[in-house]
This record gives sequence, C-alpha cells and structure tokens, in this order.
Amino acid sequence: MTEQQAFADLEAAHSAGVYAKRPITLVRGSGATLYDDHGQAYLDCGSGIGVANIGHCHPTVVQAIAEQAATLTVCPEAFHNDQRALLQAELVQLFPAEFQRVFLCNSGTEAVEAALKFARMATGRTAIVATMRGFHGRTFGALSATWESHYREPFMPLVPDFSHIPYNNIERLQNAITEQTAALIVEIIQGEGGIRPATAEFLQAAQTICRERGALLILDEVQTGFGRTGRMFAFEHFDLEPDFVCLAKALGGGMPMGAVVINQRVGALATGTHGSTFGGNPLACAAARASLRVIREEQLVDQTAEKGDWLLAQLRSINSPKIREVRGLGLMVGIELKEKVAPYLQKLMNQHQIIALNSGSNVLRLLPPLVINWAELERLVATLRSIFEEPSA
Ligand code: PLP
Repeated sequence: MTEQQAFADLEAAHSAGVYAKRPITLVRGSGATLYDDHGQAYLDCGSGIGVANIGHCHPTVVQAIAEQAATLTVCPEAFHNDQRALLQAELVQLFPAEFQRVFLCNSGTEAVEAALKFARMATGRTAIVATMRGFHGRTFGALSATWESHYREPFMPLVPDFSHIPYNNIERLQNAITEQTAALIVEIIQGEGGIRPATAEFLQAAQTICRERGALLILDEVQTGFGRTGRMFAFEHFDLEPDFVCLAKALGGGMPMGAVVINQRVGALATGTHGSTFGGNPLACAAARASLRVIREEQLVDQTAEKGDWLLAQLRSINSPKIREVRGLGLMVGIELKEKVAPYLQKLMNQHQIIALNSGSNVLRLLPPLVINWAELERLVATLRSIFEEPSA
C-alpha cells in the first residue's frame, strides 16, 4: 500500500462520510501552489474554497501565527485582549464610518447565524427573506436561508419564517419585504449558486425597500470579501450601506474565523445574547491582522481587479460550443457549461495539475489565490482553451 492510499483509506474508514473526496492527498502549500504526498505540484485555482486569498502559508502570516502561538492562543471574550482589540479596530477601518462594531466567530455559517439572530433581536420581528440559489451555510439558521433543496431536505423542519425570492427580481422583493420582515440576506455574487452577480438595480432596490419597511439588510460577503472581486468588499462596487456584513473564509489568513461587521444604525445588542468560546481568540486575530497587512502591502485588491479583467476577457474569447456563459468579477469567475462540469475538473487535476472548483453541477468555478502570478494565469487560460476548444472532453 502506498502512503497516499494509506491516508485515503484512513479517511475513508474514519471520517464521518459527509464529503465527496478527490483522490489526492494534499500535504503542503506555498503561494498558489499545492503539493501532494508524492511531491506533485498543483496550481491552486480554488484557494481551499475561497480562503487562501493571500496564498498558502504566506510568511507574514506564518510568522504572526508562530509568535502568537508562543504568546497566548486562548482568551475568551469575557476578557480583553490586545490582538482582538487591534483586529476589531483595523477591520472597521476598512468599512464606511458608520460601521464601528464587530462580532467575531469561527466560520461563515456562524457569521450568518449571528447576523440572523442580531436582526431578529434588533427588530423584534421574525421573518427572514433570502434568495433562490443563495448559500449561507449549514447550521439550522444559516441552512434555513440557504436555498438548494439537497442541503435542506434531510433536516426538515428548519427554522420557521424564512422565505426565498428569485435573485435579481425587484417585483418579488417588493412583495416579500413587509413590516414583519427582520432582514433580507443576500450575496453580492452567488458563490455556490453558480457565480451569479446581483444587478445594481436589485441591490439598490433591496436597500431602499428594507429601509422603508424597517427591515435590516444583511450582506453575505463570506466568499466575496477581502479583495476577491477586485474591491476589498464586493458591496463597494455599488453604493450600498448595509446593516450587517458577514465575513469569513479569507478573513483569518488560513485560520478558521468569521465576523459580522455591524452598522451603528442597528443600535446596541444586549449583553449575553450571543457568544462563542473560540470567537475572537488571539491566534486567529493575529493571523487575520497579518493577512490584512499582506493584502494592503502587496496591493492585492488592485492587482485582483486587473488580473480579473484580463482573465474574464481571455475566458470569454474561448470559442467553444461547450460553454454557455462566462461570469464573474475580479478573481471570482464561473464558466457555465452546457454539460456536467465534473469530468472537466477531473481532467484539469489529473492531466494538467490544476485544481478548480464546481459551483452546482455545470459551472466551473475559479477562485485562485489573489497572489497568482501572470505566468500561472496564462497557464490556466491556455489549459482551459485547449480543453474547451478540442473536439471532445
Ligand atoms: N456564506 C457564503 C456566501 C458561503 O459561500 C459559505 C461557504 O461556502 C458560507 C456562508 C458558509 O461558510 P462556512 O463554510 O465557513 O461555514
């Protein structure tokens, strides 16, 4: 038995079984490159599902984690902490002035869960409106906002008073948001739902209607945040002023971390109403601070805008009857196929050593680390061109 088989067999025997696995064992990463247990290199165009925006094992983050690990890793929010205090201050500086407060947690689903609870608490209302094809996580609250039935069905009944409207449909929005609505939750680009961008009109209408009817606007930027779309946060592409912004994935520079950034308009949240043992732990906070520093110092947001424009233009120039549409913003790109995407992902990985993602069954999703260099991007485009322009997959 090779080592690789041994790891795969161990996981097959002992992990819960809820994940479909790809048949390689990744053991190391650097920048936009991942290595398997045989030393084979792969170009990473998935970033661990949108996490590794600054690349894998960035030395600045590695050093921050090592130093903090030797200083203090655990400090619940019942106590003040230097790293947490600085992270909260640095995070809100990335937002307009009316965002001054942050709730820290450990994942995207937890950020969404917190925002949903805060919205109910702040408004005294119960109804939550979400969008079809939206994905917000898998705990009961977040799952209730998530749309796809295969995530939801096995766990019915979910939390009451959630409804879904078609994405980008202003008329349905008008009818769905009422004086009973606590919040609308929406992604600026639906990441799991096929890389579908919201229209400016829909987002503006969402904000106006929510404001008129006293409902709060929750933007789920778990996948779109931290430079991914060519702005620090995707809502900056539009003139929006949400009430809550949910963050996770790239926030912790590779460490598990989530956050809700809160608009002052929401008002104070009562002490003791929500919490998390690990939320705001110094280790994750130190990693997040280092990651924010890298994004700023390496000008990754501007670079992403430039590389994303180039990538989208290149992909749109591929002449293939297999491609229905290329969508996206920055380095968050979806290639919608007229057929299933799985064989293409396999081929990319096995024959070309490129790791890409799916989004649903027929969208090939690219979320490369924002530090991907031009030569790597050119390799990605040339490979995709060769795969899609050849007569059969
Ligand atoms: N919200 C969005 C938009 C996401 O894309 C995801 C995960 O893909 C989540 C929430 C859930 O995040 P996590 O998997 O960290 O719980």
